[in-house]
Amino acid sequence: MDLGLKYFTLLKMPELPEVETIRRGLENLVGKKITKIFRSNKKMRIESSLDLYGLEGAKILEIVRRARYLFINFSNKKSLILHLGMSGKITIGNDFKQLKHDHFAGEFSDDSWLIFNDTRRFGFVDLIETKNLKTHKMLSKLGPEPLSDEFYFSYLQEKLHRKKMNIKTTMMDNEIVVGVGNIYINESLFDSGILPLRNACDLKDSEIKKLISSIKKIIKKAIDLGGSSISDYVNAKGDLGNFQNSFKVYGREKQNCLHCKNLIQRIVQNGRSSFYCPTCQR
Ligand SMILES: [Zn+2]
Repeated sequence: MDLGLKYFTLLKMPELPEVETIRRGLENLVGKKITKIFRSNKKMRIESSLDLYGLEGAKILEIVRRARYLFINFSNKKSLILHLGMSGKITIGNDFKQLKHDHFAGEFSDDSWLIFNDTRRFGFVDLIETKNLKTHKMLSKLGPEPLSDEFYFSYLQEKLHRKKMNIKTTMMDNEIVVGVGNIYINESLFDSGILPLRNACDLKDSEIKKLISSIKKIIKKAIDLGGSSISDYVNAKGDLGNFQNSFKVYGREKQNCLHCKNLIQRIVQNGRSSFYCPTCQR
């Protein structure tokens, strides 16, 4: 049954490929004008001082992703910043009947609706002048995007130079590179043959180059496959993301390594699971 609705549901912290998949699913909103804003009068986590009603009459110019944030840039030079947190949902529908956890919604001139719903908590919502995006307190310290030209050998070499921390935790630091979450750093370290326990500052130049190229390859592949479905993440077309079928090391504790047949090990670093092959990764 086609309800004419599109759901974006995440029951885990969305990582960069999932957020990029959501962004692509929202692209057909570009050019639409918001005619009416609804906002819940229940106690909600969005600052009541945000002038969401000021978006009425504004047209969506573009939808941009930076790290795990989405920016909806409007014709009135304002930008809505969204982070879906753990349980945020963006729904595009032909109708809007307020459900318990709908925090706000916008109606477009073609009678379609964009609805923001969250059963637990919003990661983050803000509305600011588009020209101030780069200096916003949540965004100003972010490192480069992994797929951009700003994430390259000399940059990372300089960053890792004095880092005594392990390479896995280091690469998950958003100030070094954004959006390389737990799944993707596990897969990238396996792909580049680097043990997650190694000190960041001990990596050889050739290993840094290999790691950069593995991260770019893994993230790109994950985006191409629509992200990973660990629980019930659904992309714009209503399909589950497929990258989880390509995991080579993540979640494979005590299973055979796909290269050498030795058993994949699991350890915990900084509170997160790390999976690795003790033979293939050095
Ligand atoms: Zn192996």
